[in-house]
Amino acid sequence: MPAATKKDFYEVLGVPREASADDIKKAYRKLAVKFHPDKNPGDKSAEESFKQLGEAYEVLSNEDKRAAYDRFGHSAFQPGGPGGGFGRGGGGMHVDPMDIFREVFGGGGGGNAGGIFEHLFGGGGGGGRDRDGRQRGSDLRYDLRIRLEEAASGIEKEIEITKLDACDDCSGSGAEPGSKVVTCPSCHGRGQVITSRGFFQVSQSCPRCRGAGTVIEKPCKKCNGDGRVEKTSRLKIKIPAGIDDGARLRSSRNGEAGLRGGPPGDLYVVVHVAEHPIFQREDSNLYCEVPISFATAALGGETKVPTLDGAAQLKIPAGTQGSTVFRLRGRGLPSLNSRERGDLLTRVVVEIPTKLDAEQREKLQAFAASCGEENNPQEQSFWDKAKGFFGV
Ligand SMILES: [Zn+2]
Ligand SMILES: [Zn+2]
Repeated sequence: MPAATKKDFYEVLGVPREASADDIKKAYRKLAVKFHPDKNPGDKSAEESFKQLGEAYEVLSNEDKRAAYDRFGHSAFQPGGPGGGFGRGGGGMHVDPMDIFREVFGGGGGGNAGGIFEHLFGGGGGGGRDRDGRQRGSDLRYDLRIRLEEAASGIEKEIEITKLDACDDCSGSGAEPGSKVVTCPSCHGRGQVITSRGFFQVSQSCPRCRGAGTVIEKPCKKCNGDGRVEKTSRLKIKIPAGIDDGARLRSSRNGEAGLRGGPPGDLYVVVHVAEHPIFQREDSNLYCEVPISFATAALGGETKVPTLDGAAQLKIPAGTQGSTVFRLRGRGLPSLNSRERGDLLTRVVVEIPTKLDAEQREKLQAFAASCGEENNPQEQSFWDKAKGFFGV
């Protein structure tokens, strides 16, 4: 992951480095509302800003993470941790900007997000409903586990979800066929009722119409006037080739159905790519280790290397050292953002024989006896350098 392309988290939130936890929260709230995808539909740069905000807030709002960030910068949260290394190291960071948004604005986990959005972005009146009591359905999350091979090739998956869906009997309106929407008889359309409590008069949301001011003359019997019932349905989800672990796909309008014919929420499919027994992945590159014999390393030869699309031959030059990494260009994963494919990096592990019979042992001893300085240049130069320490 190229760290250089990432914006400084303090800059993302527009706060100084010594900002208090409260300042950070305030800055996040202000900018998150400005860049929220529901307020900027189709705007890629707003979407990116929203994502960055979530990441920045996730780190700077947590004392430990903030301290690590101040010390190591972005590399504190990259796979491999500070310094990095071969293969996969410590935990990377996957931040779901929507989760953070809900957390800060108190929408409850995966719950009633629709209400918050409408409240923030002016989608209708009392309690997130419009005059007819319509309300946007909640966004839903589905966790989908796929194999690395599927992430590489891209795949269409059929998923099954049980959710509140539009009622068939009333087409989602909540009204019996032929029934009308009428002014609420309890509050006479005001949406509020006044009750007396001792000396005080308290105005509260009308319990009959739930603040909408209107009621359905005859509510649909099947859904009790809600316009939605629990249903299980199947849905095809297209997973693009090269998708990352933790990526989030938005399936527009496939979330929970709206209340009384309100717009549906969205479905977010979070993709989890399972660990592979052979390959490790870093972005679009793959890593694997292949054992070769001690003789092949010395004499040279060929070995088979597994790839995602079958075995490949790898030429081992004579005198190959242990831990040498060979790059097989274009045998990694496709990239989501470009046409280029990643590489497969194969590290050879030279296997030293553990069981020698008498004859092999003798031959190896004879071989060792015949070795001179030119056979072990690394060993020679090491001891040349080390001489000073032993005074020899
Ligand atoms: Zn119904
Ligand atoms: Zn009412």
